[in-house]
Amino acid sequence: MKSGLKVCVLVGAVALAVAPGLAQQAQAHHWSIVVHGGAGVIERPALGPKGDAAYRAALTTATEAGAKVLDRGGSALDAVEAVLNILEDDPLFNAGRGAVFTSEGKNELDSSIMDGSNLKAGAVAGVTHTRHPISLARAVMEKSPYVMLAGPGTDAFGARVGLEQVDPSFFFTEARWQSLVKQLTKEGKPVPSRPAGAPPPGEAVPVAFYDEAGDSRSHGTTGVVALDRNGNIAAGTSTGGLQGKMPGRVGDSPIIGAGTYASNQSCAVSATGSGEYFIRLGVAREICNLVAFKGMGIQQAADQVIHQELEALHGDGGVIALTPDGQTAFSFNTPGMFRARLAEGGKLEVHIYKDEQ
Ligand code: ASP
Repeated sequence: MKSGLKVCVLVGAVALAVAPGLAQQAQAHHWSIVVHGGAGVIERPALGPKGDAAYRAALTTATEAGAKVLDRGGSALDAVEAVLNILEDDPLFNAGRGAVFTSEGKNELDSSIMDGSNLKAGAVAGVTHTRHPISLARAVMEKSPYVMLAGPGTDAFGARVGLEQVDPSFFFTEARWQSLVKQLTKEGKPVPSRPAGAPPPGEAVPVAFYDEAGDSRSHGTTGVVALDRNGNIAAGTSTGGLQGKMPGRVGDSPIIGAGTYASNQSCAVSATGSGEYFIRLGVAREICNLVAFKGMGIQQAADQVIHQELEALHGDGGVIALTPDGQTAFSFNTPGMFRARLAEGGKLEVHIYKDEQ
C-alpha cells in the first residue's frame, strides 16, 4: 500500500472509532410508509361489506404505490406526493375528486407538504382548479419563496408552473353532493343549486360509502408520512375540509405544525379531524416536540396529544406519525380511521375500525 493511501485508511479508521455514528449514517435506512384516509364516525353497518372492501383496496393500492417509490430509492417527499395524487383522484376520499362541498356547493381544497430533511414546507388553501393540490403545495415549497398561498393566486400559480388545471366540476361526486343536501336539509339551511357542469342526477357515479347519512362528522381527509432509504422523513396532507363549511374556511390540513409537520430531528405527522382543535393545539408539532424534548416514543406522544389534549377540548380525529428510526403510530379518538402502513421487509397492514389492531 502506498504511504499516502495508508495515511488515508488510518485517518478514516480513527474517524470512525471517534464517531461511530458516522458509520451508522452511511448505512442505508429501511424505508417505511404510513397512510390515512380520514378519521370519523366510520362503523361497520354504515360502510357495509362493499364499502369496507372498496376502502381496503384503495388504501392497499395507494400504500403499495408509495412503497414502490421508496423501494427503488425514491425520496420520502416523492412517496408522499405519489400516494396523495392517487387518493386525490379516488372519489372515495375527501380530497381532490370526491372532496366535500362548502355550504354554497363548491369544492375548496387545502393541502400541505413538509420535508423533514431541511424543514422546507409548502401549503395551499382554497384551491378550486388544480387537479392535485398536494403537487401544488410542493410547487409552492420548491418553486416559490413562500410557504403558503391562498385565494385566486394559488391556482394561477399552479397553472404557471404547469400543473394540470380542471373545471371545478371535475371534483364533483354524487355521493358528496347528496350528503351535503342531507346535512343542510337536516340543519334547516338553504340548499344551493346543483353545481354547473355536474352530471345530471341519477347518473351512475362512484359512491363514498360511509357518509350516506349526511354526517358532517365523517371526515375522509388523506395524509401520508414516509421514511426513505437516506433516512429522510416527510409528511403531506390533502383535503376538501369539512362538509358544509363556510366558504373561505381553512382547516388544519394546510397549516404547518397543525395538520402536517416533519423534521428529521423528531418526527413526521399528518392529522385528520375537526381542524379548528388541531390548529389550536398545533397537534403535529406538539407530537414532535414531545418526541424531541420529552424523549417520548412516537405512539406515546401521539396518544398523549390525541387522547389527553385533544379530548380535553372535545376535539375529534386522529394522526399518523413516524420517526427517522422507523417507529410508526396511529392514534385516533373516533370510531374509525382509514389507515395503512408498510415497512421494508414487512407485511402491509390495512385497518379501518377502532377494534382492529
Ligand atoms: N382536518 C380537516 C379539516 O378540518 C378535515 C378532516 O380531516 O376530515 O379541514
